[in-house]
Amino acid sequence: MSHSAQRVAELQAEYGSPDLAVAHLLCDRHPADAVAATLVDPDLETVDLTYGELRERSERLAAGLATLGVGPGSRVAALLPKTVELPVTLLAIWRLGAVYVPLFTAFAPQAIALRLLASGASVVIADAGQRPKLDPGEDMPSDPPWTIVTVGEPAAGDVRFDDLAATPASDAVPVAVGADGPMVQLYTSGTTGRPKGVVVPARALASMVAYQEFGLDVSPDDVFWNGADPGWAYGLYYALIAPLATGRCTVLLNAGFSARLTWDVLANLGVTNVASAPTVYRALRSSGIAAPAGLALRRCSSAGEPLNPDIVTWAQDALGVPVRDHYGQTELGMVVINGWHPDLEAPIRPGSMGRPMPGFTIGVLAEDSDEPAAPGSLGRVAVNIADSPLMWFSGYDGDPATSAEKFTADGRWYLTGDAGQVDDDGYLFFSSRDDDVIIMAGYRIGPFDIESVLSAHPAVAETAVVGVPDAARGEVVEAFVVLRAGFEPADALAVELATLVKTRYAAHAYPRRVHFTDELPKTPSGKIQRFVLRAQRREELGRGI
Ligand code: ATP
Ligand code: MG
Repeated sequence: MSHSAQRVAELQAEYGSPDLAVAHLLCDRHPADAVAATLVDPDLETVDLTYGELRERSERLAAGLATLGVGPGSRVAALLPKTVELPVTLLAIWRLGAVYVPLFTAFAPQAIALRLLASGASVVIADAGQRPKLDPGEDMPSDPPWTIVTVGEPAAGDVRFDDLAATPASDAVPVAVGADGPMVQLYTSGTTGRPKGVVVPARALASMVAYQEFGLDVSPDDVFWNGADPGWAYGLYYALIAPLATGRCTVLLNAGFSARLTWDVLANLGVTNVASAPTVYRALRSSGIAAPAGLALRRCSSAGEPLNPDIVTWAQDALGVPVRDHYGQTELGMVVINGWHPDLEAPIRPGSMGRPMPGFTIGVLAEDSDEPAAPGSLGRVAVNIADSPLMWFSGYDGDPATSAEKFTADGRWYLTGDAGQVDDDGYLFFSSRDDDVIIMAGYRIGPFDIESVLSAHPAVAETAVVGVPDAARGEVVEAFVVLRAGFEPADALAVELATLVKTRYAAHAYPRRVHFTDELPKTPSGKIQRFVLRAQRREELGRGI
């Protein structure tokens, strides 16, 4: 057995027990004086939260939540910034065997209501600054079935968080939900349409810890910062849950994104291991602010969207270390990695999102059968369930029809909904989401390849490529381009960009039109929503524009 297969088996055993108690694994078993989180405010002031403090505070909050009727299986949502109340709340919820429902602080009331109603939340813990979003309104029910707990000054009828958190702790031990018991209920990003509900069982901890080791290679000495917001899967699984499971320290920055602040956090805290979405690396690059001297980075990872190869090159210069791409989903956690772990050491192939993470077997299925496609041909990226001991997803919450679409008829494969290809050595290449594939005169074109060529142009800050209907060819390629500061939209630039694609990628796949725009439609987590651009162009074309 290889070392990595052995490690997968160990993790399965560690997180597979029928009497698993989440709060024990994520807090109580760790040394009380070890630091669980370094909380950073926008002025770069830091406060450490130890595992001992986390235990004590969450025991009291759990006793308080129990007085509100929270118990095993209850859904408890939180609309909290990255302050100390966030980890304390999570641990209190898990202590009671309840299920955590994350709400991203950038959400508008509609997105919040959707999640609260769909999950059946009985309690919402909200920061006073966020609290107005829960007021009755167009999207929010006037007589909601949930109790609101407010951090800060409560509104009439709310429970004050500090009162609840001052409840004397009971002598109750953490509730054992078991490996199949639910610990989180969250929603996909909504990049392709309505977000889908995913209930995460406690045994998923094994795959989260596996990625922290194999993918990110977080070592005990690292200063680890995953900048992704814990309102989403990547931030929740790998900025909070996996570090807590392993007794590590995580950095939580309570501020919106700014390039200056990102550089300052990296430099001032001496961050050695960083992870984030590609949009952050793109923004750092186009900010024009030079990297501060003395960065201590040894590991740099990206996930959530395709990583354009020019960012990898840029990072090597600017950060002193390349960014490695990792691929995953809310439904799976990370499953394809350019792993940093020394055991997985293999040359990186430009443009590849890596190879299957130990614990998962990933295939590319042919378009017309549920069998693996030949290497080099485009197909559907899928997970072989029987050969993936760390796989935990079995279907969406309350949506059997959408769930059924995600599995092949024989139940052998889970379909990610992404298109890609594999080479002879097992390196996987992301092409696009199934929905975003452009089919022009019979050719299948992945927008990402074209976007990567365009984003290497010095004038381009960000770009999205979509297929729009065309009478002769079925679809043609169009590009939406956000320019970097100092560049102006111009016909000559549009021609230059189209020519770049012709010469660098393929003569037929160049954008027939380049639309210069101030911003691209994105999910609250920053993913580009190409379906919005497609709909916009269809409507305009219908009006003859
Ligand atoms: P929805 O399913 O609601 O449309 P979503 O798929 O964006 O939203 P997530 O689960 O957050 O929701 O994202 C997973 C998807 O993100 C993957 O299926 C893939 O399309 C994309 N993705 C993640 N990592 C990468 C990567 N490294 N390269 C390319 N695409 C990636
Ligand atoms: Mg998805």
